[in-house]
Amino acid sequence: MIPAEVPNLVAGEERPPTSGAWLEKTRPADGVDLCRVARSGSADVDAAVAAAREAQVEWGARTAVERGDVVRAIAALLRERREEASEIVVAETGKGIELARGETDAAVEMGFFVAGEGRRSYGRTTTASMPHRTVLTLRRPVGVAALLISFNTPLPNAAWKAFPSIFCGNGSVLKPSEHAPVSAWWLGRLCLEAGLPPGVLNVVQGLGPEAGMPLVDDTRVDLVSFTGSAATGRLIAEAAGRRLAKTVMELGGKNALVVCDDADLDRAVEWTVASAFSNAGQRCAAASRIVVMDTVYEDFRTRLLHAVGRVETVGPVISEESMERILRAVEAARAGGATVLAGGARAGDRGWYVAPTVVEGVAPDAPLSCEELFGPVAVLYRAQSFADAIVIANDSPYGLTAAVHTASIHRAMRFADRVAAGVVVVNAGTHGSEPHMGFGGVRQSGTGWKEAGVEALDVYSETRYVNLVVDPALT
Ligand code: NAD
Repeated sequence: MIPAEVPNLVAGEERPPTSGAWLEKTRPADGVDLCRVARSGSADVDAAVAAAREAQVEWGARTAVERGDVVRAIAALLRERREEASEIVVAETGKGIELARGETDAAVEMGFFVAGEGRRSYGRTTTASMPHRTVLTLRRPVGVAALLISFNTPLPNAAWKAFPSIFCGNGSVLKPSEHAPVSAWWLGRLCLEAGLPPGVLNVVQGLGPEAGMPLVDDTRVDLVSFTGSAATGRLIAEAAGRRLAKTVMELGGKNALVVCDDADLDRAVEWTVASAFSNAGQRCAAASRIVVMDTVYEDFRTRLLHAVGRVETVGPVISEESMERILRAVEAARAGGATVLAGGARAGDRGWYVAPTVVEGVAPDAPLSCEELFGPVAVLYRAQSFADAIVIANDSPYGLTAAVHTASIHRAMRFADRVAAGVVVVNAGTHGSEPHMGFGGVRQSGTGWKEAGVEALDVYSETRYVNLVVDPALT
């Protein structure tokens, strides 16, 4: 199921890297080698972009209905191979099989949602100032799309970009994370098997600076769609901006979950644990800042620590480097005067496990409050009032998701109105979107574009306004 060497996929063919160099990929669950991965460079990117450009011409000329049919066939095949897909994700990320199955299902649903656009893809008709004119819109492919993604939920990350890009008639080059290369290779092959013409979706493996940046710099690439950290997003947006390419940045979060004094505390605890620790906190939507109103703070903390004590495992983080970075950040907070209430240490001696960690007494401007850790670490903050809770929630460079726990519709709607976030949840966890809902954040969480939903069509296609003159004198 997992090859010893994961190659690139260019023009429908598996190709080793031009350099002949390979990267080692280990299993996060036990640190054992999983496979070798193509260490691609400019020559591989060059070939993949050329293949995408060539294939796009015929693909983009097909009807939206036909393209939707192919995406539907891909989604159906993915559903059929659910177990195989999920097992690959388990091996390369270390997450539990149930979580992986849920992610495969999310990718399948994205496919079916996008396929349905083949029969919709609605545009607009509007008025014109001159007589005998009709104005309408057409959707046209952007051209060649570079799709650069994170490792955390590898199949949905790929599906969120590749399915709408394919559907909109683009040629695409997917650059997966070096930490999750296998599922992308596997998905690329699955697309071919389901009937996607060779070259419409190419997969180039490798490291960001070596395989990602040449793709971003390539003037034949019309759209750069990136999901990853704000630090990398900044580099990519700068490079793409220099040549004025269309860019979409889906970046990090430092998401707040607010617990009001009228909340159902058991429910709030349950959702805090799920939001902070599922997928080992490696979710852009993870709740890493838990803001609790003063009068229920002690009670909530006691219940939370009890619940955290019962969490058996949160799964490993993706790499040893990531584990050490997370532990160093918690240690630095402790050295700066913070109190580590739970965790703060490695769990086990095999694999890259960090114990679920809860910290309090962290200053709002300390690194642990401001920087995304992408690990199972939650910081507690005490708010003096509801208004104060919103101020604390908004005191962040990020603005991706937010949640509030309250029994009051007034507070819930006030929160939804005032909090800086792209997705707001009332009385549950901080989470992402379903396929039909646009997802994206404000501030350093993104550049304003939404992924998923019909909003994704605006990313992966261009809208053209057509002025149609019908002259009565010529009838
Ligand atoms: P990352 O930024 O390290 O890497 C993301 C991708 O960029 C990878 O494919 C990587 O190889 C590539 N890359 C890295 N450096 C590069 C460079 N200099 N030039 C070109 N490409 C480069 O992020 P990660 O660790 O894989 O993922 C974690 C981040 O992703 C978190 O910040 C998380 O919040 C974010 N994320 C955001 C969303 C969202 O929808 N907003 C979803 C998932 C993850």
